[in-house]
Amino acid sequence: MGRVFNFSAGPAVLPEPVLQKAADEMLDFRGNGMSVMEMSHRSKMYLAIFQEVEQKLRDLMAIPQNYKVLFLQGGATLQFAAVPMNLMSRTGSADYAVTGMFSKKAMQEAQKYGKVNIACDAKPYAAIPRQRDLTLSADAAYFHYCHNNTIYGTCWDYVPETGNVPVVCDMSSCILSTELDVSKYGVIYAGAQKNMGPSGLTVVIVRDDLLGTAADYTPTVMNYAGQAENDSMINTPATYGIYLLGLVLDWVRDLGGLSAMRLHNEKKADVLYRVIDANGFYKPVAEKASRSLMNITFRCPSEELDKQFVKEAAAAGLVNLAGHRAVGGIRASIYNAMPMAGVEALAQFMCAFAAQNGGVAHV
Ligand code: PMP
Repeated sequence: MGRVFNFSAGPAVLPEPVLQKAADEMLDFRGNGMSVMEMSHRSKMYLAIFQEVEQKLRDLMAIPQNYKVLFLQGGATLQFAAVPMNLMSRTGSADYAVTGMFSKKAMQEAQKYGKVNIACDAKPYAAIPRQRDLTLSADAAYFHYCHNNTIYGTCWDYVPETGNVPVVCDMSSCILSTELDVSKYGVIYAGAQKNMGPSGLTVVIVRDDLLGTAADYTPTVMNYAGQAENDSMINTPATYGIYLLGLVLDWVRDLGGLSAMRLHNEKKADVLYRVIDANGFYKPVAEKASRSLMNITFRCPSEELDKQFVKEAAAAGLVNLAGHRAVGGIRASIYNAMPMAGVEALAQFMCAFAAQNGGVAHV
């Protein structure tokens, strides 16, 4: 079987040249006689890879010098706890914007460690609130939000203004998809398994002045200051995932960096949103002004047709299109590595499917 177009929300499609390079280097990494997977994390050869990957990430995202980059494990979900453990004690409370399932989970986790103020609850999560709709507290230790809501297919089109309160952001499903002003954030975190590489690696970018306020009970490996002092090597990091992130960063850089990624992502999303808007058969889940470029969510006229869509699409080599169980419908996740050819094939399929089931055949 050839490669399919994989619309999974994560772990997700990786760039084919990255997989090819990893395969080429699998048995013998550049004359070292072993796979990266087999290297000690403290060996000279591995440390060279590790340092190079951090520098590549800093260069690509233009991460200022006063930020530490941590390569951790435990997924974004562990960060739901690590963030309050590290930061909450600064004032004892934090603001949380709830715009979907993951930001709700983050908020609920934080409640175990201090007082949580709900800055907004944007139920039914089809739209992102405007700045004026946020209830902010001046004495919050931080403000937490999730930039791209993977499940609902919504995305913030601005960075909330919070005065002196540091902004903490879950960027799991949008990191590296567009340019970003890191200096607007106190902490950025992301599970790698969408735009960065395989699962098992979590990237945390934290501003220096936020280090050193962790609660005493914080587990050693979750303490940002401790990890920063030990170059993310208090214990064994996700060595192979970090190496793969390096290959992904090369791929992004060679294609023109984050601005080129954004253009590419805008074009891809536009192809699908056009079909959704013009066709009439499909109903979008997210409101227009809040649409994600990464996760395109929509419904067929009935649940039966949703199921049939997913089944027939899979038979046509377009896989993993079922919406999240909380939303239903269809979700096409089109991260950086999804080629335009995959999006065009899906758009064609959508038009044909609509025509066969009472809609129109064209955009
Ligand atoms: N936040 C967002 C925005 C996500 O999309 C996900 C995973 N799909 C998570 C958090 C949870 O991530 P993990 O599985 O890495 O803990």
